[in-house]
Amino acid sequence: MAARNVATVAEILVGRRGAEMSLNDDYLNPQMGRILRTLGFDKVWAGGEGAHLIDADGERYLDLFGGYGVFAVGRNHPDVIAGLQELMAARTGNLPQLGVTLLSGVLAEELLARAPDSVAAMVPANSGTEAVEAAIKIARAATGRPRVLYAEHAFHGLTLGSLSINGNDEFRDGFGPLLAGCDPVPFGDLGALARELASGDVAAVVLEPVQGKGVNLPAADYLPGVQELCREAGALFVCDEVQTGIGRTGRFLALEHWDLQPDMICLAKALSGGFVPIGAVLVSRAAFGAVFDGMERAVRHGSTFGGNDLAAAGALATLRVLDREQLVARAERMGRLLLELTEPLTERYEVVRDVRGLGLMWAIEFGAPSGRAARRLWERVERRQPGLFSQLITVPLFHEHRILCQVAGHRMNVIKALPPLTIEEQDIRHFAAALEQTIASAERYPMALARFGIRTSFRAAAARR
Ligand code: PLP
Repeated sequence: MAARNVATVAEILVGRRGAEMSLNDDYLNPQMGRILRTLGFDKVWAGGEGAHLIDADGERYLDLFGGYGVFAVGRNHPDVIAGLQELMAARTGNLPQLGVTLLSGVLAEELLARAPDSVAAMVPANSGTEAVEAAIKIARAATGRPRVLYAEHAFHGLTLGSLSINGNDEFRDGFGPLLAGCDPVPFGDLGALARELASGDVAAVVLEPVQGKGVNLPAADYLPGVQELCREAGALFVCDEVQTGIGRTGRFLALEHWDLQPDMICLAKALSGGFVPIGAVLVSRAAFGAVFDGMERAVRHGSTFGGNDLAAAGALATLRVLDREQLVARAERMGRLLLELTEPLTERYEVVRDVRGLGLMWAIEFGAPSGRAARRLWERVERRQPGLFSQLITVPLFHEHRILCQVAGHRMNVIKALPPLTIEEQDIRHFAAALEQTIASAERYPMALARFGIRTSFRAAAARR
């Protein structure tokens, strides 16, 4: 092989700018490249600041996607950067492996101080799915039972254990057989859960307090009811707060809305400020002690990079920012404003079925209009491509209003926003106004749909070439 000379990061960022899409097509995910070209989302992103992404022409886009919810403190928060730089400058004795380090211990202390009394120890990880894997393993080992219950439409990550408790077939299909003993229950149905728990062989019930796919909110008595049923059945109750945690819902942990005391809490995503992969499971003393129950069992679960100094430094800096800027209370306030501005859309537009949210986890759901002709057209289009209507909203929001937001799951007409908790009021107002304008034009459905259909099919053909 000929000698190669890797340029510096600074040289690459300047010298190779514009090569993103072709590199992606050659080596990474060409199908994603096709989607981006088809929808016209194939931008060169040159920078990020707070709630905005900045393209190569210096245009700012309001980012309500938030990197799937990792940018709670905003993109490139200077204090988190400073925390990471401090860590690098300190040249710490990172990852001694046969040894322990200070920063992950302090991080555990800080997280547990913000968590309910039911958890007392932390198992570090490198991602959300890894945190969930750890929770499944700990639950099985601690209880000696095989089964894990999860909710329909649940999302807990895409490695095999987490995928086994994923409630969406589009993610599961083709990867089986998945873990045995994992069974779904309808989200919100305590009776169905009680029937499954009655078998006495359930190790854990794993739930997102608010489901990410669709932003499904539980009824007030559901999660407390789940907790009680778990206690009675001797099953562990696991709250997956990978998406809802770190202030997202207007509480540091969403479980505070219901005063829950789960046996395990999974964290990841926003925890390290959007820079460093991270995950963590907060675990009850009893479950932790049952798994790590002797010196010979001290390393029966873990990972090489779990608890590394860079991730811990990012997380500690993030917690400082969260406290100093009072971002949890801000999330509640801004979330309330966003709901106030958008809830009236259900009255004003036939296609708006529902607007819902908790803190800054927000969604709008669309449904068929009531007029017969319009409904027939909607149904014909949705039969060909379920969820197409929501693209009628996200595409113009992006191109005409410079707002990036996401469809909340496969084949669903739900659009979702996970903005930074630092988002300014004017950005919330801008989004609400742009959304209303876009819905108003999309409701003139046949024309808008035809335009969109022609444009996307033209782009798809161009992408194929
Ligand atoms: N759990 C929940 C609730 C999530 O929303 C996600 C990711 O979206 C995960 C777990 C998986 O996290 P990761 O993508 O870091 O593996």
